[in-house]
Amino acid sequence: MPLIVTGTIGIDTVETPHGTANAVLGGSCTYFAAAASFFTPVRIVAAVGGDFDDSHRQTFSRFPNVCVEGLELRRASKTFAWGGRYSQDMNVRETLYTHLGVVGEKPPAPPEVYRDSRFVFLANTHPAVQRDLLTHFPEHKLAVADTMDLWIDTAKPELLSLMRDIDGLVLNDQEATQLTGKRNAITAGKHILDHGPAFAIIKKGEHGCILVHREGIAALPGYPTERVIDPTGAGDSFAGGMMGHIAAKHPPGSKVSDVSHMGAIQEALAYGTVIASFTIEDFSLNRLATLTKDEVDGRLREFARVVRVA
Ligand code: AMP
Repeated sequence: MPLIVTGTIGIDTVETPHGTANAVLGGSCTYFAAAASFFTPVRIVAAVGGDFDDSHRQTFSRFPNVCVEGLELRRASKTFAWGGRYSQDMNVRETLYTHLGVVGEKPPAPPEVYRDSRFVFLANTHPAVQRDLLTHFPEHKLAVADTMDLWIDTAKPELLSLMRDIDGLVLNDQEATQLTGKRNAITAGKHILDHGPAFAIIKKGEHGCILVHREGIAALPGYPTERVIDPTGAGDSFAGGMMGHIAAKHPPGSKVSDVSHMGAIQEALAYGTVIASFTIEDFSLNRLATLTKDEVDGRLREFARVVRVA
């Protein structure tokens, strides 16, 4: 069933212990769409400014399953830009700057041909932009949002209001604590469910994730890897793999209850985990751009062996 995403398309400058990538393609929408495209066609709704150049645009052409019809060019504006620096252990990231550019303007509108989208992912961006996309798809089967520290700090009322209308929320453990005031991931997850969603996925970086669902609790480790070059986009790729798998698995006509039940979400976590483990192997979208579906399937089999418990 068609999957649609809004979020940022970013021009990133990233420093890690392995080097620096200057003005490369990034953004929550970008990583999400590239990751999801290994499983299903995905439609993006986002704006970029006059500084979005051909090299950035060409990267999208490496992902034929990503439809860019909803990519709006605003020549007089600036593309969202983000700078980040990772410490030696790469679990700690410092944001050096966030320039909102087009994200601070009116939300981009989905093209008419996207009308039949039924899976909606609201990748990291201002909650008002997330809400705007959701209002275009009142007949969605599954709506899931991501959020992060900046939006919890600056737009909490809008975020809490959005939470009443989504099925799931994805965020990392620090953000879950920031949002709820609860240190324990399960307690924080339950608190999130009290605000509307049927499930919360709390990411714990290399240590995996915890699913807190109305039907129960599940956990999955990260894919154990030594090759970590640039963790940027891991969270967005995780969400892309997860949503891409769910959308691919449910044909038009699937019941809402089938799409969002605990088993469906729990199964999808593995797909997200595996795609994220590829994203971090290189800067920007470089690893995903050369990745094949066979490699994805191979690592999924390997991951299944790794997490075997009985
Ligand atoms: P992740 O590593 O999954 O948290 O995603 C990092 C990506 O999100 C980078 O490519 C940034 O361009 C983008 N990004 C950083 N901060 C924000 C923000 N506040 N809202 C939306 N996207 C962001």
